[in-house]
Amino acid sequence: MPVTVDKDTCIGCGACVGVCPVSALSLDDEGKSSCDESVCITCLSCVGACPVSAISEK
Ligand code: SF4
Ligand code: SF4
Repeated sequence: MPVTVDKDTCIGCGACVGVCPVSALSLDDEGKSSCDESVCITCLSCVGACPVSAISEK
């Protein structure tokens, strides 16, 4: 399963965007991280990179 971002917790630091090997993550119009579920390979690199634990496996 792909990962999901808790947008209430995300502080928009962009760390997850930089570590994703398949560029599945991007910052949306509100500056919050968003995951393209059709691209995510569930490597979980972003889960460890997030300083506020906003990303989790679905
Ligand atoms: S789990 Fe891996 S592939 Fe999926 S969004 Fe996070 S870093 Fe990218
Ligand atoms: S690393 Fe966490 S806080 Fe930073 S943009 Fe990604 S989800 Fe948001």
